[in-house]
Amino acid sequence: MSQFDQDEVFSPIDTQPTVPSRLKELNASLPMGVNFHLESVFPKTTGWGWKKSFKTRLKYIENTKEILQDSLHEGEEVLYISKGTRYSFLEYYFMGLWAMMINHTVFVLTNLRLVMIHSNSKGKPKKTLWMIYYSQIDKFKGTWNGMLNLKLKDGKKLSFTGFPKADRKTMPVIFQEALDRYRESGFNPETSQSLENLCTHCKDKVPKNEHDCDNCGATYWKPSELAWRSFIFPSWGDFLMGHTTIAILEMFGGIMTWMAFVVLLISGIQTSSPEDIIAAFVVVGIAHGIDAAITAHIAGKGLHPKKGPSQFETETAV
Ligand SMILES: [Zn+2]
Repeated sequence: MSQFDQDEVFSPIDTQPTVPSRLKELNASLPMGVNFHLESVFPKTTGWGWKKSFKTRLKYIENTKEILQDSLHEGEEVLYISKGTRYSFLEYYFMGLWAMMINHTVFVLTNLRLVMIHSNSKGKPKKTLWMIYYSQIDKFKGTWNGMLNLKLKDGKKLSFTGFPKADRKTMPVIFQEALDRYRESGFNPETSQSLENLCTHCKDKVPKNEHDCDNCGATYWKPSELAWRSFIFPSWGDFLMGHTTIAILEMFGGIMTWMAFVVLLISGIQTSSPEDIIAAFVVVGIAHGIDAAITAHIAGKGLHPKKGPSQFETETAV
């Protein structure tokens, strides 16, 4: 007998608990000022694991409630919330599992768009935010192993993995419903790129290739600004992006390469062998060059705050 059959047998439709009754049971409340489509935000009200499923979602909602309150428009309704990890082949290639650490993303599907919030492994938001209008999604596919693949209108491809097991089935369904609904409505707002950056502070759109928010005056690091810092000293760019754990590891790498540089340089000068001097520059050039390239790549994926909104400049400027 499958899980589905068991659910049917033990919880006939007419006695199934509702989302509000379950929330009451858990003594939980939802934040003010945000609309939730309860049946899809909490798809599992019964059967094995409903409590865990509720609690996980309530935690994501609690953690992101300020962002949701600030960023959702009037009439916008949350259809679904979950957390996954953005997958990038390049990052896995160079960073291995460390890439997971910087790619946790809270997903919020609304009736208008997909809002993505960069987070830590527990779903606590960090500073980078994105959104994708459904009209910018060309193809969407959920795979058997829980990967979510998006092909966007401007050709960009995004892959996500690491969703809770329970979400692997429900999320694609809710996503597809949201896409279908948008197709009926024909809602197609103007965008500068399919995956649009949102301002950390005011949640307004910051258009492609721009690093200043026109709305609130906040500024963001340009990938090149972070890349040359990482070239001079690996980890500098990652510290500025708030990837502290990875930055500390890189820092040790940076100390090693600079030490190798000094040792080779001194020995080259002492023995007057140009090979050692060349080797010193090649070692640093290659090692730090790779670090700078990866930093630029990661930095280019979203906005990383440099200076807060201009009206609060005296408070936030360091
Ligand atoms: Zn702003």
